[in-house]
Amino acid sequence: MEYTSTRDCGRRVSSAEAILTGLSPDGGLFVPLEIPRIDIKALAGKSYNEVAFAVLHAFLPDYDEAFLTRAIHQSYGENFDSKAGHLARVNERTCALELWHGPTAAFKDYALQLMPKLLVEARRMCGEKGETVILVATSGDTGSAALAGFGGVDGTKIAAFYPAGGVSELQRLQMTTRTDRNVAVYGVSGNFDDAQRGVKAAFVDPVLTEKLAVQGKKLSSANSINWGRLAPQIVYYATSYLQFCAQGTISCGQPLDFCVPTGNFGDIMAGWYAKKMGVPVGRLLCASNRNNVLSEFLSTGTYNAKRTFYKTSSPSMDILVSSNLERLLWHESGSDAQVRAWMDALAKQGEYTVPTNVLAAIKETFACGWAEEETVFAEIKSIFARDGYLCDPHTAVAFAVLEEDGQSQGPAVVVSTASPFKFSGQVLAALGHAAPESAFGALRALQDISGQIAPRSLATLADKPERFQEIITPANISQMPLRF
Ligand SMILES: *Cc1c(COP(=O)(O)O)cnc(C)c1O
Repeated sequence: MEYTSTRDCGRRVSSAEAILTGLSPDGGLFVPLEIPRIDIKALAGKSYNEVAFAVLHAFLPDYDEAFLTRAIHQSYGENFDSKAGHLARVNERTCALELWHGPTAAFKDYALQLMPKLLVEARRMCGEKGETVILVATSGDTGSAALAGFGGVDGTKIAAFYPAGGVSELQRLQMTTRTDRNVAVYGVSGNFDDAQRGVKAAFVDPVLTEKLAVQGKKLSSANSINWGRLAPQIVYYATSYLQFCAQGTISCGQPLDFCVPTGNFGDIMAGWYAKKMGVPVGRLLCASNRNNVLSEFLSTGTYNAKRTFYKTSSPSMDILVSSNLERLLWHESGSDAQVRAWMDALAKQGEYTVPTNVLAAIKETFACGWAEEETVFAEIKSIFARDGYLCDPHTAVAFAVLEEDGQSQGPAVVVSTASPFKFSGQVLAALGHAAPESAFGALRALQDISGQIAPRSLATLADKPERFQEIITPANISQMPLRF
């Protein structure tokens, strides 16, 4: 099975090459030329890891089977408290797919626990030697998940750069308390964009590349457009569907709707691939926060990034350019020339419009909605009052959108992307309680009020020493990879 670029269909690469390269040299994203099918009925009764193997082996056929089995077991075993793909019943009609039982209590763990292993193996398969140095700029969640994923992986080093003062205390501690020998963490004076610019500059810095080459190292990114980050997310759509069948809530074959809190369109795009593979996914509801560029696009066909950027209580969805949408545009239009023209227009004019036939094809599967901040807070409160279910602001966006939509015929799944304890202060405020100043005070208060236990990985941060405290300027980012 081969992969091509969304912007140049003449290009052909294997799955290992797609994962190793990340972004196609023409600026496009790698997409599978054909989508493999799985027989969902034949997967009934299988474990999470067995389904993961079936899905990933189909998409990554050039990887050795024994390697894949081992990598999957290492990624989704003890790390996830045996709760990979956990579905929690919220009420009669709705389940929450809790994707936050992994090491950093957010859904990015699904991709970032496995992707480093796929990347190292891809280097071996493609005959690359030496070490891979990952640089990641983070506004919070990605950094900790990437550090947890690459921490201790042989043949790699990883440096994370976060805006000093721009991430929550818990998010900072999730990064700065890491003890793996191959990681480094730096605060950057400035905001997230400053940190990101510094990292991007390092990637194109010829002097740095040269110096690293002398040390036998090569830069790489763990960016969310890498196919190795998308593919692992297809699995939990299949496993949740199978759980519904097993419980008898739906009969096998009947469609099941998913509502997904969306930022970069990676999570929901995985749902689309699951559907095309043969998982009976019904509608995919794309839920946005106040940065509602995607829900506007899915309603009108115009993607307009020229708009005010809002900082919200669901920061991982505060995005104006959703990169993974490009994959959907390629699959639904079938034209690399069109995708190139749209992405060009987005870069130059800040907007593009797709023709009605493409929008209609997209709308066959996708619906959308968005929620204001007050709605999000009201939703956290009402779900807890009504159903006793505690959720974080990202998940609450999805609950609000699903409720407002009201079109699901049968049961629906809300994809829950972060533990409520990761956002204890905001959740407490939404529930109408004063939030203690300190992160751990807030976490304990939320435990008391909800009667639920915070993920151990968050609670134990309080006892760990901060290993990294250095604050650097954006201009100095490119020096840091040499220091390992
Ligand atoms: C990254 C993230 C999202 C958005 O996922 P995309 O794949 O970027 O659409 C939603 N919620 C949380 C908590 C996240 O960390």
